[in-house]
Amino acid sequence: MTPASRGASPLAFVASGVLASDAEVQAILGRELHRQRTTLQLIASENFTSFAVMAASASVLTNKYSEGYPGKRYYGGNIYADEVETLARERAKSLFGAEHANVQPHAGASANLGAYLALVDPGDTILAMRLDQGGHLTHGSPVSITGKMYRFVAYGVTPAEADGSGERIDLDQVRDLAKRERPRLIVAGTTAYSRTIDPAPFREIADDVGARFMFDAAHPAGLVAAGEHPSPVGIADVVTLTTHKTLRGPRGGAILTSEELGRSFDSAIFPGLQGGPLMHTIAAKAVAFAEAARPEFKEYAKQVRANARAFADALQEQGFRLVAGGTDNHLLLVDLRDFDPDLTGKVAQDALDRAGITCNRNQIPNDPRPPFVTSGLRLGTAAETTAGMREPQMVEVASLIARTLRGREDEGVITGVRGEVTELCAAFDPYPDGPYPDGPHPDGPAVA
Ligand SMILES: *Cc1c(COP(=O)(O)O)cnc(C)c1O
Repeated sequence: MTPASRGASPLAFVASGVLASDAEVQAILGRELHRQRTTLQLIASENFTSFAVMAASASVLTNKYSEGYPGKRYYGGNIYADEVETLARERAKSLFGAEHANVQPHAGASANLGAYLALVDPGDTILAMRLDQGGHLTHGSPVSITGKMYRFVAYGVTPAEADGSGERIDLDQVRDLAKRERPRLIVAGTTAYSRTIDPAPFREIADDVGARFMFDAAHPAGLVAAGEHPSPVGIADVVTLTTHKTLRGPRGGAILTSEELGRSFDSAIFPGLQGGPLMHTIAAKAVAFAEAARPEFKEYAKQVRANARAFADALQEQGFRLVAGGTDNHLLLVDLRDFDPDLTGKVAQDALDRAGITCNRNQIPNDPRPPFVTSGLRLGTAAETTAGMREPQMVEVASLIARTLRGREDEGVITGVRGEVTELCAAFDPYPDGPYPDGPHPDGPAVA
């Protein structure tokens, strides 16, 4: 979908008569819209949804209590809630080729918790990716309920190699740990890994040790839907995902499983973990699943990966080392140490922020610096590809990043880059149909 075909003006949401009754919130939304339109969004877990997705999120379904599932609700008046949830489930099943879908998880974290609740008992052993090598908080971080409830054992990536062939998931380690620790569940899936994750060897290892296999597809869900990443559906016992990252839907989660296991995941999510589902979000998920089934979305996902590869090449040209030597997906993990041994992820993120380039610092495998400082940056192409950027813009952005980081102590450099970022964002506006929300609008008071 090109930005131009993304529907009505964002001001339908930001400056409509509805919000005109609350000037304070309206003004904040206007400023946030302005930020999204005038700075570069390179956070790998973010995207720009269509207006249809936003409209469904902002609908009357937010008023409805629908505890239970279609046909089995606790309260009356759920005829249309049933229709919309059934539609969302059917669309999710058809998009991913799954037998069963649960579209109620409020977020990726809830989907993962629900999966653990359905598959293992407190105190059981789960094998998952090390957090400092790309795993997620919900894969057993000591500060997450997952780390307190279950006994997590972690695998990591292979050592870095000069030719870029290292820093891949260490399947030998996965196999050895699985044999030694006998986990009840093996988890694949990451939050900062730039290479394809093949679900097949995980399945084999899980079968060898009698474990269940969960694939957390929070990041690549959109690529999986488009056939741009191997699908774990039908291979893993359960696939969890978020709907707001590469899938480009509303903020939320979903679970895909077999017919046989479906019921246990349904009862884990409700009543196990959540109360009433967010029916307005479920409507928006239905919209996003339909959008992701269109041929334009396949083109989009292909371009996301092509942009990431062009971005990787251009960053390497600028003297950055990429973890795992490059990317197969929408994400890049930059090791800043080759570019400048004194530059930390924290300082880099702050400098880029001042230049209008939004991204996040991230630990790299075996990072010598602590998690709050780090030696890495995580970058993604999902959002700016939606805004229409292509390979030439990726080369330009790589050069803007390098200039910012080289000149991070020179306000003139930062201001210069900021100006170029503004121009680039104006040419690749994710929401081009409306006027910038910095003047009076006929539908409501001026927004900042
Ligand atoms: C983003 C992410 C999640 C959690 O999603 P939220 O919606 O933020 O709760 C879970 N697992 C992985 C691998 C992720 O990247």
